[in-house]
Amino acid sequence: MTMTGYFTHRDCWKHEMGAGHPECPERLDAIEDRLLISGLDVALTRREAPLAPLSDIELAHSRMYIASLRGLSDGLREEIEAGGPTHAQVDPDTSINVHTWDAALRAAGAALAATDAVMAGEMENAFCAIRPPGHHACHDKAMGFCFFNNVAIAAKYALERHGLKRVAIVDFDVHHGNGTEDIVGGDQRILMVSFFQHPFYPMDWPHSSASNLVNLPVPAYTKGMDIRDLIESIWIPRLEAFRPEMIFISAGFDAHREDDMGQMGLVEQDYAWITHRVKDVARRHAKGRIVSCLEGGYALSALGRSVEAHIRVLADV
Ligand SMILES: [Zn+2]
Repeated sequence: MTMTGYFTHRDCWKHEMGAGHPECPERLDAIEDRLLISGLDVALTRREAPLAPLSDIELAHSRMYIASLRGLSDGLREEIEAGGPTHAQVDPDTSINVHTWDAALRAAGAALAATDAVMAGEMENAFCAIRPPGHHACHDKAMGFCFFNNVAIAAKYALERHGLKRVAIVDFDVHHGNGTEDIVGGDQRILMVSFFQHPFYPMDWPHSSASNLVNLPVPAYTKGMDIRDLIESIWIPRLEAFRPEMIFISAGFDAHREDDMGQMGLVEQDYAWITHRVKDVARRHAKGRIVSCLEGGYALSALGRSVEAHIRVLADV
C-alpha cells in the first residue's frame, strides 16, 4: 500500500480570477514542480478528482446558494458568447470565470474521493492539490477566494456517508476559517482546531462561541516556536480527548514568513512539525486517516517547499 494519495484535476488550473490575482493557477504548478524536483511524486498515489455530486455539496451548503452560483456561471457563459466580460464578481476579491463551477466541483470531489480512498484503506492519508480553496465559503455564501467548503463537505460526508461518529478539522491557514466555523459550529461530531492571525481578514472573529471550536487568534509576527507551544498545550489535549476517527486538514501555507498575504513567521519545518503532531493523533485514534486539502499559500516558492515538507511527513519519506 502506498501511504499517501495525491488528488488533483486539470480543471483546478482553469479557474482564475483575472491577471495578477494571488489565488492563481501557478500555485498548483509550484507544488507540482517541487514534487518533481524532490522526487517525492513517485512516492504518491496520484488520482484524478471526480466532480462532486451536488447531493454531497448540499451536506455543507444551502440548495439556494448552490443554485445561485450555478446560475451566475450559466449567465456568465451566455454573456461571454454575446461579447461580455470574462469574469463575474462574487465579492470584492472573488470572481468566477467559465471554468470555476467545474473547478469547484473537482476541488470538493477531490476531498470526497480522498475520503473514500482513505476509508477503504487504499491509502493511509491523502493530500488534495486543489483550487479554488474552501475555508471561507459559508453555508450560503462564497467569499475570500472560496466557493465550496471542501473540508467541511468532506467532514460531513465522512460522518453521514461513512458512518463515523467523530471527525476533527485542523486549520493552519493564516486566515480564520470562518466558513468552516459557520458550517460546523455547534456540530459536536466535529472538533475544529485552528490558529490564525488576528485582527485580520475576514475580521468577523469572534463569531461563534460553540464549544466544538478551538480558536487560537495570534498577533501579527507570531513565530513558529510560539505556534508550536500553543498547539502542544491547547490543540493536542483537545484532539486527544476527542479521539477523532478521521482528521481533515485545511492546509493553508500563507502563515509562511515569505508570504505577504499574512504577517506571520512560520517556515517549512513548522509545517512539518505540525503535520507530525497531527499524524501522531491520527495514528493513535484514527488508523492514521488524514485528508489534507490545500487552502491558502501565495508566495509560490514558499508554497511549493511547504507543501513538500507537509507531504513528506504524511508519506513518511
Ligand atoms: Zn489564507
